[in-house]
Amino acid sequence: MSASRLETYDVVVVGGGPSGATAAEDLARAGRRVLLLDRAGRIKPCGGAIPPRLIKDFKIPEHLLVAKINSARMVSPSDRKVDIPIEGGFVGMVDREVFDEFLRARAADAGAHRRSGTFTRITRDHDDVAIVEFKAQMGSGDSATMSERHRVRARIVIGADGANSAVAKQAIPGSELKKLVFAYHEIVKSPTDGASRDFDAKRCDVIYNGRTSPDFYAWVFPHGETTSIGTGSAHKGFSLRDAVGDLRGQLGLKDAVTVRREGAPIPLKPLKRWDNGRDVIVAGDAAGVVAPSSGEGIYYAMAAARFTAEAVHECLDTGNAHALSLARKRFMKAHGTVFWVLGMMQYFWYANDKRRERFVSMCDDKDVQKLTFDAYMNKELVRAKPMAHVRIFFKDLGHLMGLVKA
Ligand SMILES: Cc1cc2nc3c(=O)[nH]c(=O)nc-3n(C[C@H](O)[C@H](O)[C@H](O)COP(=O)(O)OP(=O)(O)OC[C@H]3O[C@@H](n4cnc5c(N)ncnc54)[C@H](O)[C@@H]3O)c2cc1C
Repeated sequence: MSASRLETYDVVVVGGGPSGATAAEDLARAGRRVLLLDRAGRIKPCGGAIPPRLIKDFKIPEHLLVAKINSARMVSPSDRKVDIPIEGGFVGMVDREVFDEFLRARAADAGAHRRSGTFTRITRDHDDVAIVEFKAQMGSGDSATMSERHRVRARIVIGADGANSAVAKQAIPGSELKKLVFAYHEIVKSPTDGASRDFDAKRCDVIYNGRTSPDFYAWVFPHGETTSIGTGSAHKGFSLRDAVGDLRGQLGLKDAVTVRREGAPIPLKPLKRWDNGRDVIVAGDAAGVVAPSSGEGIYYAMAAARFTAEAVHECLDTGNAHALSLARKRFMKAHGTVFWVLGMMQYFWYANDKRRERFVSMCDDKDVQKLTFDAYMNKELVRAKPMAHVRIFFKDLGHLMGLVKA
């Protein structure tokens, strides 16, 4: 059999968002020959909120944080406002254009090769090794052009190409994402000198109200000079644009300068399989790993990518394709319970305005605040305080049964 003339990589990572860049960096650091392929030029629509655990685990430098949020405001359908201080910490805000590019550049510093281009398909070489085909982008800016077709061989392909993953569609059986919300936001210039009475540059607002979302929530996330105002829903007939327009009106931000209007799907259920049992695996949004209830996906995309990189490394070491399935197993062991609890919360509390009212009222409880924030900030359910869990269980039960006054 003649040797292939195509260049061979240990791993080709398709997609250079938080998951792809993290997997590429980890594998390059482990000594693997890695190609990181990313479709250049589009900024990922995102609220950009990240927890301290992410900043610590993935060594995010301070200069990437465009704002540090020190409280969250939950707003109920009757406009009841519950302010939750974030004690002893903060939620970081990143600008995805800068954040993602930082992660890609760090992967390249670790030794990954970078190419700008669009993945088109996987074919097979004469020895059955995967060939990744893509249209490469030549040059940059206005003079950028696309080459017709480019091909490289890959011992393993990682599909980190987002919720509409072309890699998953082609290579992973049953990869259709079954549970999604479509999220839309408008990025506006942050108000200055009291242009809006209801705006605080260090506070994230989370609005639970059937008018702004019949099945999810709406938000106001300040990012320093700009602010993301958005909402999400799985209901096809619901106008996200109108809802955001109304919200801007309520906040006194109707006339604020709009920088961008954009949207994207958020998957809310991990796929049952992440790999094809052979040489293709997906990570991040492509694998459906965004937390239900909150829609938090950046941390989970990077955590999933780290488990994926480990599994790919093991697979390449041993030649045993079964190692790829360890990525999902390890991720679900670490985060499956939290995903399940959040999924139940979304199903129950986001169902109608009466329940949303009770949910916000429940958030006034100090035990609930502490437990929720510990879980969000550190990605661990606090085991050290069993009595707090018991107290919350009975309070939840009281709210569920309507025994506690909203
Ligand atoms: C409106 C909105 C607000 C959100 N707010 C938050 C928030 O505040 N906090 C939070 O934690 N999460 C938030 N999320 C979720 C979060 O953005 C995602 O979960 C996260 O970006 C997933 O990372 P990823 O790397 O898996 O995918 P992505 O970030 O989607 O990256 C995929 C990459 O693949 C590239 N790509 C796609 N197709 C191809 C192709 N064919 N060839 C080559 N490259 C390709 C894309 O250009 C992109 O760079 C939000 C999502 C939305 C839509």
